[in-house]
Amino acid sequence: MSNFLIKRPQTIFNLFSSISKLNGVGEKRLTVLKKKIGPYIINILFYLPIKAIDRFQNTSLRTIEHGSIITCEVEVVEIIIPPFNFRKKNNISRIITFGLDQEKNIRLDLIYFGQNTKYLRNIYKVGNKIIVSGKFENFSGVGQIVHPDYVTTNNQRNLIPKIETIYPLFIGFNQKFISKLVSECLKQIPYFEEWLSQDTINKLNLPNWKECIVKTHNPNKMSDTELISNYRRRLALDELIANQISMLLIKSKISKEKTIKNIEKHDNILEKLYNLLPFKLTKNQNEVVNEILSDLHSNNTMIRMLQGDVGSGKTIVALITMLSSISDGSQSVLLVPTEILAIQHFNTINEFLKPLNINVCLLLGESKGSYNKKERLAIIEDIANGSIKIIVGTHALISEKVNYKNLSLAVIDEQHRFGVNQRVKITEKGSNVNILVMTATPIPRSLALTAYGDMNISTITEKPKGRKPIKTYVLPQSKIEDVLKSIKRAIENEALIYWVCPLIEESESTDLIAVNERFDYLKNYFKDCNISLVHGKQDKIDRENSMNDFKNGKSKILVATTVIEVGVDIPNATIMVIECAERFGLAQVHQLRGRVGRNDKESSCILLYKTELTPIAHSRLKILKDTNDGFVISEQDLILRGPGEVLGSKQSGNVDFKFVDLHVHSDLIELARKEASNLIKNDKERLKINTLLSIFENNEAIKLLKGG
Ligand code: ADP
Ligand code: MG
Repeated sequence: MSNFLIKRPQTIFNLFSSISKLNGVGEKRLTVLKKKIGPYIINILFYLPIKAIDRFQNTSLRTIEHGSIITCEVEVVEIIIPPFNFRKKNNISRIITFGLDQEKNIRLDLIYFGQNTKYLRNIYKVGNKIIVSGKFENFSGVGQIVHPDYVTTNNQRNLIPKIETIYPLFIGFNQKFISKLVSECLKQIPYFEEWLSQDTINKLNLPNWKECIVKTHNPNKMSDTELISNYRRRLALDELIANQISMLLIKSKISKEKTIKNIEKHDNILEKLYNLLPFKLTKNQNEVVNEILSDLHSNNTMIRMLQGDVGSGKTIVALITMLSSISDGSQSVLLVPTEILAIQHFNTINEFLKPLNINVCLLLGESKGSYNKKERLAIIEDIANGSIKIIVGTHALISEKVNYKNLSLAVIDEQHRFGVNQRVKITEKGSNVNILVMTATPIPRSLALTAYGDMNISTITEKPKGRKPIKTYVLPQSKIEDVLKSIKRAIENEALIYWVCPLIEESESTDLIAVNERFDYLKNYFKDCNISLVHGKQDKIDRENSMNDFKNGKSKILVATTVIEVGVDIPNATIMVIECAERFGLAQVHQLRGRVGRNDKESSCILLYKTELTPIAHSRLKILKDTNDGFVISEQDLILRGPGEVLGSKQSGNVDFKFVDLHVHSDLIELARKEASNLIKNDKERLKINTLLSIFENNEAIKLLKGG
């Protein structure tokens, strides 16, 4: 199934019909619903309740607590309704009731603000016994319910749902409306042929898909709504299967049989490179290199991930891989997420390869003036005619205008900054392109499987010899004077300092203000030394000058936004200051911190936080202080913030699950893989595959298979 494209089966057309036909959905509401939930019936079905309440859990006025939901029978004793023409917003109607039987003497007031009084007079009559349900409040000793959710008579009590699901709301919509929409949509669920194997259904005791959706919205008991209920587990399993199918299909799209590359395992050129290196590869680096080289020599395309904490020395492994891959005359690219990093890698690689007489080129995106257009076109031409073998660059490498003569290897650095989309695009630039993705964010296995499918993984666990652990300090912003003083001393001792400015979530332009302000402030404070500034909106030349000045030690402090987050390698820098560290993801701070500790000197990282941390923010900063282990950090990040944070926003599309919660459902991943590969093996199962993939089409990997 290597060229599989999703085709939505006719059997589920119903689920993809527009919500415009549903009752009560006029044009105005349609616009909002489309935006907030989605245009189709299925979007409503997948609009999950945030919680459920058991309306009959509390039925006694004697024991009810302030703020809880109560459903109880009362008798109306007095109706106080202001005259109709005085009806204003703050006009209060009060229905005084008392409990029955043992609760005869307990009063409960039903309060309405500005309610249509005619309506109230209709439903309430003195002496009537009614059932009310709503949120109980103790208001200066008198119990009350403001705007009860349900008022009915005893023989109609079954109109009050036992377990009620509560949906997230938005302006102009209330619970009742959304519930009604959902029940209408539930009626539209067609019959599906079961896609799970009988074995799995029996073993896990799973209901069918339809029942699971129905029970998610209309549970019989509270436990039905829990993530560990069989209903939710089945939906999670289905979603994981769809995810694994898409991963397998993408893999078969990328990975093909190939003819064995005509390259020597330890040819001359590698020997020469090794002799030029200022260091010896660590044992671990050598092992990883061997794994990669044997992939290159096999008759299957390589899809390998190289994991290694920040500073573990992945770049040299990438270079070795590229160098051996081009020895059969083909081309290699190194794809990186930022221009700063592309320039840095280009310079490093160029330095190593110059003595070997191998040309490298740098390809960045088209930009405002500072980059020579002619030069760029010449490079693109040299890439197309094959005269350049090693190319370093940003996203420009996968742009439509760039064609390769014979691309056979793509190394993707800081892979967490890219999506599965880019991974596929680069392989489409050649036939049988080997892929090596590199990441410093070690990913817990559960996530790796869902985000990457079954890539082979190589790991560098040891850092180059002589590295000292980075000392991390966590301080409130109010201590900034102390920090500045110690930095002054450090500068006198030849230190280079990164100063990362707060991430301000509202917009990039406010980030820019922050970084400029800090730059001016520090320039003023450290009058005797040079300070540089880098950010994403800067002119390329200015930015390169800043980076170079800092690298050469001409300027002592580099004030930066997160553009320096990944990959930047300036071994002499030993201090990293991060302002408003609580706003950054854990993995992100760990990456930033990894910019120091790259030589044999003591390095430190100072995390400044704004006042009053939430307990979560506090424990996150503590984790950073306590450990330098990227693996521990990313597992903790997964627990505290969820998969999107660990993988970075670009990739979270792959694991942006509706039903799967990776903490709760990770035991289902292996099973999902098994079910997925069984379905894929069998050509007769296309209908089931198409159904599953269509239902869960929001997944980024799946979108790709749709050709979108
Ligand atoms: P990362 O894994 O974060 O990409 P880099 O490849 O940037 O790490 O390497 C970090 C630094 O360690 C670089 O300055 C590099 O030259 C150096 N380095 C890499 N391998 C070794 C080694 N075996 N011994 C000493 N230094 C090394
Ligand atoms: Mg790197």
